Order: sequence, then C-alpha cells, then structure tokens
Amino acid sequence: MEILVINCGSSSLKFQFIDSDSENVLAKGLCERIGMEGSSITYESIKCKKNTEKTAMPTHNEAIAAVIKALTDECTGVISDMSRVQAVGHRVVHGGEYFSKSSIVTEEVINKIEACNYLAPLHNPANIIGIKACMEIMKDTPNVVVFDTAFHQTMPEEAYLYGLPRKYYDENKIRRYGFHGTSHSFVSKRVAEIMNRPLEEIKTIVCHLGNGASICAVSGGKSVDTSMGLTPLAGVMMGTRSGDIDPGILEVIGNIEHKNISEVISILNKESGIAGLSEVSSDFRDISKAIDDGNQNAASAFDAYVHSVVRFVGAYVAVMNGVDAIVFTAGVGENNSAVREAVCSHLEYLGITLDKEANSRKGEEVMISTLDSKVKVYVVPTNEELAIARETAGLLK
Ligand code: ADP
Repeated sequence: MEILVINCGSSSLKFQFIDSDSENVLAKGLCERIGMEGSSITYESIKCKKNTEKTAMPTHNEAIAAVIKALTDECTGVISDMSRVQAVGHRVVHGGEYFSKSSIVTEEVINKIEACNYLAPLHNPANIIGIKACMEIMKDTPNVVVFDTAFHQTMPEEAYLYGLPRKYYDENKIRRYGFHGTSHSFVSKRVAEIMNRPLEEIKTIVCHLGNGASICAVSGGKSVDTSMGLTPLAGVMMGTRSGDIDPGILEVIGNIEHKNISEVISILNKESGIAGLSEVSSDFRDISKAIDDGNQNAASAFDAYVHSVVRFVGAYVAVMNGVDAIVFTAGVGENNSAVREAVCSHLEYLGITLDKEANSRKGEEVMISTLDSKVKVYVVPTNEELAIARETAGLLK
C-alpha cells in the first residue's frame, strides 16, 4: 500500500510517501512558512536529490496541493496520479482519553480531536487543519490518525493522576498523558524482536532522547509510566525545554521578570533545558564541541541532563520492580555515545556493563552492553513515519 504520512504543524508540514509493503520511503520533504511570506517546499525522492522551491502557500490546502504536485511531477514524482495515494496517515499530538489506538478518520473522530484542543492548543488545531486539507483535496482517500498519546493510555491510574484537587481530573481531565507514544511503541516492539523474547514477558525502559525527550517504562508491551505529562514540557531536561521543575518557580520567575504565566511557560519551553543552562546551544553536537573546548557551562549542562535521565531510569526500574532492557533512541540517544556512557555509568548496580566499542557506533541498531551484562542495553533507531505507515496500512487492511 502506498501511504502518505503527514506531520502537520501550525506553519509547517512534514511528509513521507512510503510503500508499506516494502517499507521503502519513495519521497519525503517539508513545507515551511505556510501562511507567511516566503513559503517553500523541500522535496527529495528516489528519482531526485533534495531541492527547495519557493511556492505560495497561504493555507495548508496549497501545501497539500504542492506535495501532490511534487509526488506526481513528470521528472521528480514517484506516482503517475493522485489516485495512487492509497491512504494518508496523520500524526496527531493529543488524543486525550478518547483514543487508546489509531483510528480511521470520521466526522466523530475529528470532533473528538477538536475536543482535545484545549490540552494541546499549539498542535491539535494544526493537525486538524492538515486532516481537513487532505480530505478536501483527496476526496476518496481514507485518512488515519495516529496519536502521540495513545500508547500511554494503558498507564494505571496511580501513574497518571496528579496530586491535585480531584475535580481537575474529574471535570477537566487534567492528568499525565505522555507523548512520543509512536516511538516508544515502535522501539519497545523492536527490542523484543532483537532479544527474541515475547513482548508480553519483558520489561523495557525506552529513552527517547531527541530535541524533545521522554522516557517510558514498558512492561509486557504496555506503557506503565512515562516522563512527559499533561504537556510535553514535563520530564527529563530537553534541548530547550526545562523538563520537571518545582512549580513554585513559575511565580518566582514571573515576579523577577514581570511576566505572566504564559510568558514564563514560554521561557520554560523555548529558553531552558540544555540551551538555557549551557548558554551555548540546544544541539548536543555543539555541546560536545564546547565541552572539548573547555566550556564549563556546557559541561555542567551535560551533567545535569544525564542526571535527569538517570533519575527517571532509576524510578522506572522501581515502578516495574525490575528491568530486562534499556534502550536509547532519537537524535541524541542514537548518536551521542557520551550521553549513553554517562547514563550507563550510573546503572552498574543493575549489573550493566557497557561494551565501549559497540557504544562508539552511531545511528545504528546495536547492543551496547556486554554479552554477560545482566540488563541488556541497546540503541534502536526510531522511525515514527514508518510506524504511522504501518498503523495506517494495518487499520485499512
Ligand atoms: P526532534 O525531537 O526534533 O525530532 P532529533 O531526534 O532529531 O530531534 O534530535 C536532535 C538532537 O539529536 C540534537 O541535539 C542533535 O545534536 C542530536 N543529533 C542528531 N544527529 C546527530 C548526529 N549525527 N551526531 C550527534 N548528534 C546528533
């Protein structure tokens, strides 16, 4: 089945066109500055190299039309006409308590996603715009929605309830939801395959460490706890997000800076984490270089980051009363051996021994613990687009 995978932001639209049978990516790209001056589409396919072209995209409809045009172009395209797009799989950030699985899009499904807008005001409305644009332009093509939150709907109540007045959960559904579910699900399934053990029997901790980062305790194939919360601001320290902090800090910083809560939250989202602490960059490549150059702030940001990861890994060993495998994934998890080594150096009490040679590899699927390590440690590259394509094909078969 040939599936268009769409990840729609408020002014951007990332896409991949995937043959779900061979699992090959036939084309991929990105539309940027939708609704603004200077919008463009970047596109590459099995028939052409990466190229960026300025294209007017006043709304997401024009962006979808530009994607279709590129996919069907005589030179760069990979399909003869639009009818070859057999389905569209959409990444949707927040499914609230409505969705514990992916769904085929109906009017009722759209209404429920809209009902979750208040939980993800920056993301869900953009996701809905993308879905509606596809429905408008490809009238006969089925659409499937795959949620970042769905995998975590198996968390038990004790893991998702916050210690707040109960009415906020009962009336407003304020609780932990967790994100990156597509990645945590994909990676934990793959680990069971690599270990050649039934998914139902193993306890895994997945460290998805990208720009955004979250950690998930997966027991028997189900998410039982995760570090992000109602929003993706919680949990481990991230590129520019603070992760968990004392909520009292909001008022203190607000008073210092004469800012309201939204403005302080913006500092926590955009100016904090590794970028804020290091005063160097949110990108771990820059951090590593700065550490090599003797930058103390970069070194202390690195240590605080590692500490925040170790804290969750330790907590999830306790939550699951044991662990069989720890897995690193996403940009930092897949590529930064120093972060992995530093995290694992705190886990010797679990009987983990690192294979330093294996750990020096980058971006590939590899076991980085020694054969006799009691708990196995892996790097498994994540692939959220492929996971969305698989879900979409699976639902429509
Ligand atoms: P996002 O959450 O935006 O998808 P990514 O998963 O791409 O983020 O992760 C971005 C982080 O991964 C950056 O800190 C970057 O330094 C790191 N990273 C990505 N590729 C590499 C690489 N080849 N070598 C080292 N670090 C990398």
